Amino acid sequence: MAKLRFNALAEASKRKPIKIVEDIKRSALFGENVFSENTMRQYLTKDAFKGVMNAIDHGTKIDRNIADQVSSAMKEWALSKGVTHYTHWFQPLTGATAEKHDAFFETIGGGMAIEKFGGSQLVQQEPDASSFPNGGIRNTFEARGYTAWDPTSPAFIYGTTLSIPTIFVAYTGEALDNKTPLLRALQAVDFSATAICKYFDKNVKKVTASLGWEQEYFLIDQALAESRPDIILTGRTLLGHSPAKGQQLDDHYFGSIPSRALNFMRDLETECMLLGIPVKTRHNEVAPNQFELAPIYEEANLAVDHNSLLMDVMGKVGARHHFKVLLHEKPFAGINGSGKHNNWSLSTNTGVNLLSPGKTPMSNLQFLTFFVNTIKAVNDNEELLRAVIASASNDHRLGANEAPPAIISVFIGAQLTKVLNELENVTNGKLSPEEKTDLKLNVVGKIPDVLLDNTDRNRTSPFAFTGNKFEFRAVGSTANCAKPMKVLNTIVAKQLKEFKIEVDKLIDTKDLKKDEAIFNVLREYIKASKKILFEGNGYGDAWEKEAKKRGLSNNKTTPEALKVKVSEKSIALFEEMEVMSKVETVARYEVEVEEYTMRIQIEARVLGDIAGNHVVPTAVKYQNLLIKNVTGLQQIFGKDYEKHAAEQIQLIKKISEHIEGIHSKIDKMINARKKANKIENIEAMAEAYCFKVKPFFEEIRYHCDKLELMIDDELWPLTKYRELLFTR
Ligand code: ADP
Ligand code: MG
Repeated sequence: MAKLRFNALAEASKRKPIKIVEDIKRSALFGENVFSENTMRQYLTKDAFKGVMNAIDHGTKIDRNIADQVSSAMKEWALSKGVTHYTHWFQPLTGATAEKHDAFFETIGGGMAIEKFGGSQLVQQEPDASSFPNGGIRNTFEARGYTAWDPTSPAFIYGTTLSIPTIFVAYTGEALDNKTPLLRALQAVDFSATAICKYFDKNVKKVTASLGWEQEYFLIDQALAESRPDIILTGRTLLGHSPAKGQQLDDHYFGSIPSRALNFMRDLETECMLLGIPVKTRHNEVAPNQFELAPIYEEANLAVDHNSLLMDVMGKVGARHHFKVLLHEKPFAGINGSGKHNNWSLSTNTGVNLLSPGKTPMSNLQFLTFFVNTIKAVNDNEELLRAVIASASNDHRLGANEAPPAIISVFIGAQLTKVLNELENVTNGKLSPEEKTDLKLNVVGKIPDVLLDNTDRNRTSPFAFTGNKFEFRAVGSTANCAKPMKVLNTIVAKQLKEFKIEVDKLIDTKDLKKDEAIFNVLREYIKASKKILFEGNGYGDAWEKEAKKRGLSNNKTTPEALKVKVSEKSIALFEEMEVMSKVETVARYEVEVEEYTMRIQIEARVLGDIAGNHVVPTAVKYQNLLIKNVTGLQQIFGKDYEKHAAEQIQLIKKISEHIEGIHSKIDKMINARKKANKIENIEAMAEAYCFKVKPFFEEIRYHCDKLELMIDDELWPLTKYRELLFTR
């Protein structure tokens, strides 16, 4: 019997939901472990409080004296909650989060000790980070890296550690993390968007990007997950025949949440409340054992931090409930994958959502301005948006016959399509008073503030307008949202900057009124952005053909997609918007190319191991049983035995064929890997892994999955799909 599998199954079948106590209202728990504005008010002097708030709202520097006051207040607050350590919490280019804990504890001589946490420790640290990926930045510059406090994301207590969100930069100034360029992009979009808002309202001082992510994930019983080396080492199954019942009945989606999972969610949500992560929605997803968690949206930088923190918290809470949380984009072949929709919008300090249709023609013109500019930004940078969501794991979703496809397009719904069609016919140059009135009354004035087809929206679109925000759906479930948010805000910042130049030029040189100039530029943008608008179904060949005709990119694999990140255009874009220098852009590209190679390399090794060392020996064992059976039959029936053993003999032959298939393909795969490993150029190496090594995965899997169907269930060593997916 396959011991590991059956022990795991026995363990999993005995599980009961872990009891959860929820006797405190969520609103009372919310932010309990966050050094929030409210907490700061209690613990800080007026001056120190003002200093921090100024830094948050206006990016002013915090001086040494104030930093000392803040750190001592943080320490006092943290100690009152049983905290012993502090850490600078940052997001290196691995995409995960990193932390190094130091105790507050310090000796002061004479056998005495105190709890100490000074301003300098709050503001800056030098983690020994030589092993974080840096794409050669530190080698080139021989610079060390340091972390620096980001006051815009509040410190929080995680376990018994005070965690301080920080950026991570080299001493030469290059960013070594995901947060720094994000902050720069948010600044860029603030600058460009505020300038545009002033056309409509002089009081606007600041524009903030908001993000509401929707995290999809699978919950698999821990014992079962741990019985699969592929899940443990790669986060996904590399083998496994699809179960008789999959998701075809659609009976899981939005169905009642199984109680073990529900208790996990309740526990997770309590943790989120304490950490100030405003989670609000939970439900079943399409696939069995697949779920989703979504918060109320927040300022983008904070939302990014919260999602990174959440992914970590999920693992910890999962373990308490004997679940392994799978964040991988495609843990199971043939079953829906997981994404992380990034809902994005811009809003002003005066409280206006710039992507929400307004009540008056003028506010609707402002809405249309931001709406059309976003579409134009996506239109002009679709290939870069595709690049930013590329990863070895997301490749299984994009372009792999699952929504959304690797082609970026924008869905806006029938009503707004109609509005854009009408705006396209606006007269060139000055508008007659009649035309202006007509536009205001019948076009701009007619945008309803609740958009009807919002409910009936296209689920396959990678970038959809959903009433008061855009939803970037192609983002993968493991992604650090800083990356898509960096790109989206940068391209919109650049687009708005250009828009202002064009509008001002028309006002200055053509003597147009402000709204006339805006209508004129929007008209040209609508004409120029036609190729990106797509309302249809993204599945299948038809759209691929059509997209090709339109000149849209369709980069199906990560090595192809990533290249765009270092195109002249991309480098210039990030430089111009002061988001990343060329060195920083290239460094990130190299880190990602290498990461891709490593992921495929690990998968290749694990697959070789389980196919060769688990599947083949099991097949041989079963084949021996069959051979014994056939010889037995021969003894009983003599020459007549073949009549009775026909099936078994067939099976013996087939098993041999599959064993041969596995062996020969593993050999070929190993050879391809050896060849790939000799390649010096990292791009060529990633391509070799993509096009020469990876294709064997499917072939090897084919034989293994066939064997799974033939071999005695009692012998099969790998926990099966039905067991992984339907154990509750
Ligand atoms: P779904 O897409 O699952 O139907 P909703 O459209 O209600 O759900 O919202 C999805 C996410 O969009 C939520 O996280 C929500 O907070 C977020 N969201 C709503 N409004 C905005 C906004 N203005 N900016 C960014 N995110 C938003
Ligand atoms: Mg959504």
